[in-house]
Amino acid sequence: MTLSDEQLERYARQLVLAEWGAGEQEAVGAAAAIVVGAGALGTIVAAYLAGAGIGRLGIVDDDVVELSNLARQPLYATADLGQGKADLLARRVGALNPDVVAEPYPVRLEDANAEAIVGAAAVVVDCTDSSSSRYAVNKGCCAGRVPLVEGGVAGFEGLVLSVVPGRSACYRCAFPTAPVDARSCAETGILGPIAGIIASIQALEALKLLTGVGEPLLDTILTLEGTTMSQLRVATARRPDCADCGALRSNPGDTPQS
Ligand SMILES: [Zn+2]
Repeated sequence: MTLSDEQLERYARQLVLAEWGAGEQEAVGAAAAIVVGAGALGTIVAAYLAGAGIGRLGIVDDDVVELSNLARQPLYATADLGQGKADLLARRVGALNPDVVAEPYPVRLEDANAEAIVGAAAVVVDCTDSSSSRYAVNKGCCAGRVPLVEGGVAGFEGLVLSVVPGRSACYRCAFPTAPVDARSCAETGILGPIAGIIASIQALEALKLLTGVGEPLLDTILTLEGTTMSQLRVATARRPDCADCGALRSNPGDTPQS
């Protein structure tokens, strides 16, 4: 793939970076990403990945736009109420950047379909808001050895963890069981910009994983508390008995870590 004059202009501000050149741009342009969940996190992640020139972008969500979404999902408008999010967001990111092949999946990702949806992607960004979906995404990514960026928000807090299955701790390694206080976003509440910050970190992590630029948050849970802006980096590690990734070798051909 050679960059056209229009692409050189579209991506000029990232191409000028010392860490980012035609090789990184072409790697992103050749890659397929899946964003699971087209809500507060997923809309922002999809916009940044499309803007950066991702080649294919799958958007998985079976919800429709509701009035209570708009305070934190700025890619949707009041006139969009009732429309399916996956199709709508795919159209929006396709309009943002016609280079991107946007593919809507108007379904709920669960154990039965996870591997089929995520298996061919170069990176998956999990923007769901339920722990059952989160574990399904993690399991599918581990089975397909697809790098994953996990993110979550509740109240004023958020966290991000990147995963390279077989090499670093997966979501289930880091969180073997769902938190007891796994209340929904509707119960806990959320202020929009916290989701925007966490989603922006997720998009950055996805671009790092796709290009090898920088150091992704492997074996590291980044947490952010928005009322004080305090950040923590919490170390985590692979668990040999992990049901999702324990059997994966660190590299094909290596001996298992367990
Ligand atoms: Zn694991």
